[in-house]
Amino acid sequence: MNTTTESKTTTFLNYINGEWVASDTGQTEVSKNPAIKGEVVGSYQLSSSNDFNDAATSARIAQKAWRKLAGSVRGDYLLKAASILEERIDDIAATMTREMGKTFAEAKGETARGVAILRYYAGEGMRSIGDVIPSTDSEALLFTTRVPVGVVGVITPWNFPVAIPLWKMAPALIYGNTVVIKPASETAITCAKVINCLHDAGFPAGVINMVTGSGAKIGTEMVNHRVIDAITFTGSNTVGKQLAHSAVTRGIKYQLEMGGKNPVIVASDADLDLAVDATISGGLKSTGQKCTATSRVIVQKEVYDKFKEKLLEKVAEITVGDGLESGTWMGPCASEGQLNTVLSYIEKGKEEGATLLFGGNRVLENKGYYVEPTVFESTSPDLTIVREEIFGPVLALLKVDTLVEALEMANDSEYGLSASIFTTNIGNMLSFINEMDAGLVRINAESAGVELQAPFGGMKQSSSHSREQGRAAIEFFTSIKTVFIK
Ligand code: NAP
Repeated sequence: MNTTTESKTTTFLNYINGEWVASDTGQTEVSKNPAIKGEVVGSYQLSSSNDFNDAATSARIAQKAWRKLAGSVRGDYLLKAASILEERIDDIAATMTREMGKTFAEAKGETARGVAILRYYAGEGMRSIGDVIPSTDSEALLFTTRVPVGVVGVITPWNFPVAIPLWKMAPALIYGNTVVIKPASETAITCAKVINCLHDAGFPAGVINMVTGSGAKIGTEMVNHRVIDAITFTGSNTVGKQLAHSAVTRGIKYQLEMGGKNPVIVASDADLDLAVDATISGGLKSTGQKCTATSRVIVQKEVYDKFKEKLLEKVAEITVGDGLESGTWMGPCASEGQLNTVLSYIEKGKEEGATLLFGGNRVLENKGYYVEPTVFESTSPDLTIVREEIFGPVLALLKVDTLVEALEMANDSEYGLSASIFTTNIGNMLSFINEMDAGLVRINAESAGVELQAPFGGMKQSSSHSREQGRAAIEFFTSIKTVFIK
């Protein structure tokens, strides 16, 4: 990777038309380590409209030849990239930890997932892309095939800086599209290192491009640029809605994966130890900064006190610190801004009358942007901490009389991404599967997570309702052509 080093800071470049290039603005921004105040991870380009135009134009030119390659040949590039990413797993995971704070073990797990995503989609290059349909004309052949959408704009958040770019780019590429990615500024360097794996895998120039810089500037440029045929975005609802508006105006395809306020229901017949472990893991791993993180914990009255006692005991054991230090279970918030958002929600919870059961304080203040794992008890489902996505390590416990009430409460949200129930009763499981309005429903498993070969996406305001991952990704990244041969 072509980088420059000045005053001990490595400067990462944009990747356009197969080359690492500096922005024509001459401006860079530093990426900081949230675990150690003042530590700079590196610098990235603050790009201009011209930089984006160069990237989009090269993607358009490259797409002509890329789409003509056999799917298996495109798959070979993905396989090569997977092997390179696997070789660099420690460096890329450590960079991720230093840029956004998740523990090294989690960062390594995510990078391994990136490797698996590349391998999975390499195989997609050999799978069926159409159906033969019986024609009413016995002398005709009627079938469907799929063609790439064209040039895909990719905008990604900082919380999964390896997996999300790859679960968007890998299907885009295998189905014959070319891409321009604008990664989250918070984790631009992790993304640059991933792109470098793709570069070293030998993808033809222009097939993959990366332009870093302000989301408002480059993101707006992207969705409005005449060369961009589709846009896939993961991030906040506010930004997603703006992008959707522009995409609709231009008449291009768009895919949005956004926030969540994910409930867990603990039924009176649940395995409480399992429910406690999964609530902690689902709610507090990655410092609660997962779109699928558990944030509302709805517990039936018969087991409420026991569950609460067990949960608080285990939460008290959580060690907070730098994700690169062994023994750390929970890292810092990803940035000072993110920490302040979490602290302001904690204050709001207290002001509105929720009972603080554990945590609530900033810790290791001289070191970085850390907050304690925090547990509230709420008597009302209408408090801000119960309704809004916090994106931090904050759980709200709610007590209910019946499972019917629990389901109603779980569904009482503008979001519908992921939801879990803990129960040993098959009837309860079936009611939950049928009645829970969420794209991912999980039984006796934490709310966070889905296997990469399965569809991923939300309902209600969590998503634009298309699905990512697995075979489902073909719907967004291709268009169906119906063919009739006489
Ligand atoms: P964000 O502020 O919306 O940023 C996401 C991306 O959009 C970043 O690359 C950002 O660039 C860019 N951006 C910012 N303003 C933009 C604009 N006006 N036009 C176009 N792009 C713009 O979200 P975030 O804080 O990074 O991520 C947290 C959110 O993502 C949470 O709500 C979380 O639930 C959601 N999320 C959802 C999923 C899912 O699959 N459903 C997965 C992960 C995260 P800059 O970084 O340069 O600002």
